[in-house]
Amino acid sequence: MTASRVIYLGGLGRSGTTLIERVLGELPGVCSAGELIHLWRWGILDDERCGCGTPFSGCGFWTAVGHRAFGSSGWTRPLGRGMLELRSRVDRARYLPQLMAPTDLHPRRRELAAYLRAYRNVYAALLDESGTSIVVDSSKHSSLAFCLRHHRDIDLRVVHVVRDSRGVAYSWTKDMSRPESAAGRQQMTRYSPVRSALLWNANNASLAVLGRLGTPRLLLRYEDFVADPIAAVRRVAAFADLPIAGSDLDFLGPGHADLTASHTVAGNPMRFRTGRIEVRRDDAWRRQLPRRQQRMISALTAPLLSRYGYPLGAST
Ligand SMILES: [Zn+2]
Repeated sequence: MTASRVIYLGGLGRSGTTLIERVLGELPGVCSAGELIHLWRWGILDDERCGCGTPFSGCGFWTAVGHRAFGSSGWTRPLGRGMLELRSRVDRARYLPQLMAPTDLHPRRRELAAYLRAYRNVYAALLDESGTSIVVDSSKHSSLAFCLRHHRDIDLRVVHVVRDSRGVAYSWTKDMSRPESAAGRQQMTRYSPVRSALLWNANNASLAVLGRLGTPRLLLRYEDFVADPIAAVRRVAAFADLPIAGSDLDFLGPGHADLTASHTVAGNPMRFRTGRIEVRRDDAWRRQLPRRQQRMISALTAPLLSRYGYPLGAST
């Protein structure tokens, strides 16, 4: 059995991973699947809308993937609930220390194995159904990436997406609705600037550890991606051993990308947009986030901001 190659987009939410996933999903040979960590609840149990606009249970692509992955029963509520239960037992930030150890030392290795078997089945089914060679999973959470490194048939390539902590913090303070929820009124989570600064530190630090433990990892700054998406996509493709021809990038132009619909299970609301999308740096935080908060976030995240090459002066 050949290993399923997975580009895993890691990083804290509001770092531009949905845009990056959509752009990667336009490449031949790539299947963009959305945030698979949410497949079990938002897809199977809550039947939220797929990126193609159809409720999960009505999407022909996902229905076929379910049958390939889990046989004739496909997606079932016990499967969804069982995966949420397993997730709570093995895939949480607090379990990172045990996930850093070798697999046979993991205290719940049977549950971890069952959890990973389902992911492996879904990745393999996505590749078969779409006829591609690489899945993009934009789940972002570092704990799932740490879990996935324990399955030998998952060829995990982590693209660690980082964005200026002050831009991330500003984005987390904004109201944003979730159009995929049934009522369409549910709001996305909001975090205080201090909370997002601390999460930013923890998430980025743990993804760096993953790289040091031997999982292939590529650091991609959101700001570099939007400044030159063609160069960034070429870097990611080389990292993932995906051959691309020049014409494969014709959908990208100066400051824009032409996107088609994709079957993503969860992500930022921009996953529903198709056609020409503007790709440009969003620096609203420099004007909108109060200076006092900018200084506080800079102080809390200073070591990693410097390491990633961001200026510490809050509004420079
Ligand atoms: Zn769909």
